[in-house]
Amino acid sequence: MRAIPGAWRRTARGAGLLGEDGSAAPTVFAEMSALAARTGAINLGQGFPDEDGPAEVLEAARQAIAAGANQYPPGRGIPDLRAAIAEHQERFYGLRLDPETEVLVTAGATEALAAVILALVDSPDDEIVVFEPYYDEYAACVALAGARLVTVPLRWPDFQPDPAELRRAVTDRTRLILVNDPHNPTGAVFARDVLDLVVELAERHDAIIVTDEVYEHLVFDGPHTPLATLPGAAARTLSISSGGKTFSTTGWKIGWVTGPADLVEAVLTVKQYLTYVGGAPFQPAIAAGLRLPDGFFTGIAATMRAKSRILGEGLRAAGFAVSRPAGSYFTVADAAPLGVEDAASFCRTLPARAGVVAIPLTAFATPERQDEYRTLVRFAACKRVDVLEEAAARLSRAQ
Ligand SMILES: *Cc1c(COP(=O)(O)O)cnc(C)c1O
Repeated sequence: MRAIPGAWRRTARGAGLLGEDGSAAPTVFAEMSALAARTGAINLGQGFPDEDGPAEVLEAARQAIAAGANQYPPGRGIPDLRAAIAEHQERFYGLRLDPETEVLVTAGATEALAAVILALVDSPDDEIVVFEPYYDEYAACVALAGARLVTVPLRWPDFQPDPAELRRAVTDRTRLILVNDPHNPTGAVFARDVLDLVVELAERHDAIIVTDEVYEHLVFDGPHTPLATLPGAAARTLSISSGGKTFSTTGWKIGWVTGPADLVEAVLTVKQYLTYVGGAPFQPAIAAGLRLPDGFFTGIAATMRAKSRILGEGLRAAGFAVSRPAGSYFTVADAAPLGVEDAASFCRTLPARAGVVAIPLTAFATPERQDEYRTLVRFAACKRVDVLEEAAARLSRAQ
């Protein structure tokens, strides 16, 4: 077969997608979703909701299409959405932003992350510090950018980093410290002293802080504390979020990045050559969502907390040890009490044995740290209550 040249190899290796023979293996997410489709199993693997978000938001998108919002929007995003993002940051966090220069709309948080990393990293010696296990895009984009990924492990069962390990990871080579809080895949919310230490280390080593806060409204015992609100942080922090998780519109891909004008400008220079713009009719709809009353936001956090509890109890009843998530869609369970030694093979046979799909935590870890997460499994709780209860019942029967 002819060789396929290009950066895709770096991406794939970064994301752990290459098979042992160097061929492109499917991601475990694709493999598990295909298994779910083939076996009719309940998909607690991929994190997408199985119910629609707020009717006002959906209706606003329909109206925008009918009203002709179907051509290229402005490069930074429509003014109304940028204003709504700035209002949201002030209303919830007291952060004041200039919507003209300090807010950029992106094709989901995914593009925001890619554009930030590509924009702000330029040497193979540059290091990007992330917490591990991590959202798989991080490693892929760091590899694509030709930089080095440095990871700080989060350990079962509370998944808070060891301050000494965090201190060791950040050096003068560190360009970015990327903090996903609330955290996917573990459901952790970082303790205040961890956030303080991130700011201290970023200042000492002149690193930029990048946050991924897509679960900002799914903190169970809120409120959420954005890193940008900590003393000294705002001037060196780019904050990323998205409407996907908050409004159950993961297919819309409306995200944003906010922060100092010069950093946002740098990100824009890359973003404009990735997608240029996107989601014209969804932008006003997400603006409407961001302006929903407080009750909507406290409501989705309470609902997700209740669903996580139901999932957690079900997993415990089925014999797993279960961590206690503080936010996000996800719950991590340890299958070791069930005699499992390898969660990856456990997850491959789970659809046939129990009719449930889940993701092994090793899918979110570097090759060097596979062993630390060997028996851990990520389950998504962003499903209807009857679906979660049925999944729990199936898992109990299967043991
Ligand atoms: C879902 C998710 C994203 C992607 O967000 P989009 O807006 O859908 O691109 C980014 N980061 C984390 C941690 C996620 O879970």
